[in-house]
Order: sequence, then structure tokens, then C-alpha cells
Amino acid sequence: MARGSVAPPRGRRGFAPVLLAAAALLILPRLAGGALPASAAAAEPTPGTDAALRASPRARPPQVRPAPAGASGVAAATRPAPPSTPAPAPTRPVQRVPAARAITIDVAVAAAPGAAGTRGAPRAGLAGGPPACDYLDVTTPHHGLGQWNRTLLDTVYRLPSGYAPGDLVDTAAAGLNGGHAVRGLMVADLRAMASAARDAGVPLAVVSAYRSFARQETTFRRWVGSGGYEAALRTSARPGHSEHQLGTTLDLTSAGGADPWAYGDWGATPAGAWVARNSWRYGFVISYPRGSFARTCYSYEPWHVRYLGRERAAAIHASGLTPREVLWRLR
Ligand SMILES: [Zn+2]
Repeated sequence: MARGSVAPPRGRRGFAPVLLAAAALLILPRLAGGALPASAAAAEPTPGTDAALRASPRARPPQVRPAPAGASGVAAATRPAPPSTPAPAPTRPVQRVPAARAITIDVAVAAAPGAAGTRGAPRAGLAGGPPACDYLDVTTPHHGLGQWNRTLLDTVYRLPSGYAPGDLVDTAAAGLNGGHAVRGLMVADLRAMASAARDAGVPLAVVSAYRSFARQETTFRRWVGSGGYEAALRTSARPGHSEHQLGTTLDLTSAGGADPWAYGDWGATPAGAWVARNSWRYGFVISYPRGSFARTCYSYEPWHVRYLGRERAAAIHASGLTPREVLWRLR
């Protein structure tokens, strides 16, 4: 496609060759490209000049070239900083949700850990409102193990894949059923909450607590398998985005009862209602309260509580805001 190939050889310049070369300049591009409009051909700059280099990609017919992972029409300068882990190549074909849908999701990009999503940067809420529900993979700003009470995780921000607390202990240490792990720093408050619930006649049980990045991959995939990708996004976090990876988050249910999501509304059961009313006193906050989808981007989960310490939990409870909204302000 090099335009220089139609120029006459040196030392054979005459009137006829010049005419032939001029004709070739006008005709050959049409033969080669087939769709170049006359106006575009007339406006072509001199081959070999800077103007030609700049103009040639637009003037040439489109070339089919696979887009690199994460390239979704987002200018490089506006993309978020790449996460610390490299992005594996997407393993499934790109499916794009129509633009008119409420949620914009690039399935392949969103499913690839470490890849950028469809938008260039986290969008703050308008006029002080809640942040938008975008699906990105931005490493959350405060992801040190000591920053557990200000680490923001949502559909935008995520933890590095290697984030794993070193002080995990079994939930049996808090007087609850064992087999699940939480950070040692919260055991005293968890024990106090479990004890208070028991005293109130609504003993609690743990269904899930710490989940590693790899475990969350399995969990999310299972939800995708059961209800499809878009439904999974509403009820489960993509790997790295789950508060369970912090080691400070639990899914609770009634002792001796079923999984909480098997109830019509576990929050309306005696144990669920007790948790909603009292968990903040022990440092726990319901991350996804009823009717908060527009603010949290997840469906109502009365069983999912995150430990933020008594002071912050009390402040969030008093504010009427969700933890996500508060932690966005602390970024
Ligand atoms: Zn949960």
C-alpha cells in the first residue's frame, strides 16, 4: 500500500510519464481501496510528508486488526492507572451490552482481572449524589492491610489479587460456628455481637467469611452459571471486588437456619432484624441495605456485614449513608 511505489523512477521524467504518473496517482488508490471518495483523493497530501503520515490512516481503507485487551475506545491518557497484576487475555469473545441499557458492561474486559473497563476513570456522583455504577478494575487507593476500615471496594475499585490478611482466625474463636476465617483484630467485637444476639434469643451463624481472590473467582463463576453474567453482577462481586477478601466481612444467618438468601427476606426474620438494628453497636455495618442499589450497585443483602470498627460503624449508622458512599469520600 506504499504510495511511493507509483512514483516514476529517477532520470525518466518527461511529459508523458508525468501525465501517466498523475493519472496513476488518481486511479490506483481507487483500484486498491475501492471506496476512497474523490474528494478524499483530491485532498490527499504529498506522499512521504508528515501530513501524509498523519492523514494516511484515515485515507486508507479500514484494516481489520484485533484490538488489544482493554481497548474500548478509551484514550490512553484518560485510563486509570493499570492495576499491579497483569491482565490475562480475555478467554471469551467480547459481548457488548447495548448502549441504551442502564448498565454499561464490556463483558470480556470486565471479566478479565486487571483489565480496564469500558470507561476511563471512576465517575463521581453528580451534585454530591452517589457514585455511578460503573464496572472497572481500578486498584483501590487504600489497600494496605492496616487500612481495612477505609478500603473501598465496589464495582469500580478492587484489591490486588495477592491481598491476603496474615492474621486470620477461625470464627469459632468468636463463639460462633467454625470453619470460616476472620481477621483477629475483630474477633472481640464479633464475639460480643454473637453473645448479644444469643442473649436476645436470636443466635447467629456464619455462612461465609474470608474469601481469597481465587475463591471469589469460583464464587462469581458459580453465580454466572446459575443466573447469567448480568444477574451475577448484581448479587456477587467480581474477583478482587469482594469485601470478603478483606477478612473483615461475614455473611450471617439464623443459627440452625438455611442460607440467608434462601429466605424471602432474611432481614425480616427475628435474627435479621436484630442484625439490622444492632450490628453497628459492635462495629458492623450492612453494606447493601434494602433499597440501596442505586447507591451500592448491589442487590439488598441483609446478611452481609462488614466490620469497620465501632466508631466508624456508629458514624455510618447515624449518617444514613451506605459504607460505599462514606468510603468514596475518604478515598
Ligand atoms: Zn457477603
